[in-house]
Amino acid sequence: MYNICITGTGYVGLVTGACLADFGNTVKCVDIDEAKIAALKVCKVPFYEPGLQEIVQRNVERGRLSFATDIKWGIESSTVVFVAVGTPMSAEGQADLSYVEMVARSVGENLNGHKVVVLKSTVPAGTCNLVERIIRETSKSDHPFDVVSNPEFLREGSAIEDFRKPARIVIGASTERAFDVMAEIYKPLILEDTPVIQTDVKTAEMIKYASNAFLATKISFINEIANLCEAVGADVTMVARAMGLDDRIGPKFLRAGAGYGGSCFPKDTKALVKTAERAGYDLRIVKAVIAVNETQRHLMVEKVERVLGTVKGKTIAVLGLAFKPDTDDLRDAPAIDMARELLAKGAVVKTYDPVAAEQAHRMLKGASVSADVFDAVKGADVAVFVTEWNEFRDLDLDKVKRLMKSPAIVDCRNIYEPSRMGELGFRYYSVGRAPKEG
Ligand code: NAD
Repeated sequence: MYNICITGTGYVGLVTGACLADFGNTVKCVDIDEAKIAALKVCKVPFYEPGLQEIVQRNVERGRLSFATDIKWGIESSTVVFVAVGTPMSAEGQADLSYVEMVARSVGENLNGHKVVVLKSTVPAGTCNLVERIIRETSKSDHPFDVVSNPEFLREGSAIEDFRKPARIVIGASTERAFDVMAEIYKPLILEDTPVIQTDVKTAEMIKYASNAFLATKISFINEIANLCEAVGADVTMVARAMGLDDRIGPKFLRAGAGYGGSCFPKDTKALVKTAERAGYDLRIVKAVIAVNETQRHLMVEKVERVLGTVKGKTIAVLGLAFKPDTDDLRDAPAIDMARELLAKGAVVKTYDPVAAEQAHRMLKGASVSADVFDAVKGADVAVFVTEWNEFRDLDLDKVKRLMKSPAIVDCRNIYEPSRMGELGFRYYSVGRAPKEG
């Protein structure tokens, strides 16, 4: 068991810290965000992630998990330092590495013995080498250290399960000592036959970007096919189902909709294009994936406009705001862009989300927040479903219809069956399928 410091207690850092404490390690989580740490010190998880609260509570009570803003305290008392800080998109579209560099300097300044520095943050190929350089330049000691790339693949909403049952563990390192420490840390997962990819650091860094870019490609691909299905009168859900049954293709990430959002795919695809530019290579497929995705959310607004003639002065219920179900993450969420565009075009926008509504309200000047779906659809000219929360699946649609001013639904996630919606008396428009216009 190790003394571990996790720098950055966001989705990735906190899940990693809590799960590694659950394996029996002593984990110190540090963050520069004082409010986040103050909340965690009283065992309050500052974001929504199913199951995380219990694990945090349990490990704090057992004395294996603690929190602080003092990074020196975390680094000095640990032999393994995970870097899980944000790598947001910079104004030029590349990964902003300033938080990673900040942690590297702190490690250098507080190097008091051999340490393994593990980059969990998603970073472009070459970043581990940069971190190594910064630590060496900042440190006044000659203690040896290793820098390891260990990209994270967890998904918000199922982060605990993903951490405990990953499809693979990727470890990029350059010494046996570093590989051994990482194998020991992940022993509980390796004992369950989780495949481990041991490679060099740049390859490990590329694996993460290539994986995310490929998943984003599947989404943009099926969205283009959906748009074509609409134009020729075919049904994209059947097309995707049949495609997915071919095990060379697989069924996942073939759901047509409003496009991908969130804190990873949009920034990671753009960062990969920038990495390629710097390396003198034109990454054409990923560029097209980004362009298709950026258009898709706008096409959803055009769909609403076609349904209503004009959105000016019309009341529109936007249902589901988080970029996907089971998270309150609103970063680059299609619903936020769509609501903003509708507001700019003069619509009255009412919003509802089971967990992200209050946060969204701060981002959407002029939109109102509803307590539930029924409140949101009351008097609405159209209801637009943007995130497929489970509670939408067994909604009392008769009640929805009674409350609306006119029973029209734009379903950006193909939650409902068109024939049933027609029977219920809705004008129903979805993605890549023929509309039901009554
Ligand atoms: P986040 O924004 O939720 O959390 C990052 C945290 O780092 C913040 O709390 C911030 O205050 C803290 N921080 C910044 N600088 C710091 C410093 N110098 N010292 C200590 N703390 C500092 O980010 P996240 O979603 O957890 O993502 C972290 C990284 O993991 C990113 O590179 C992201 O691309 C990657 N990733 C995210 C996911 C995901 O689903 N969210 C999945 C896989 C990989």
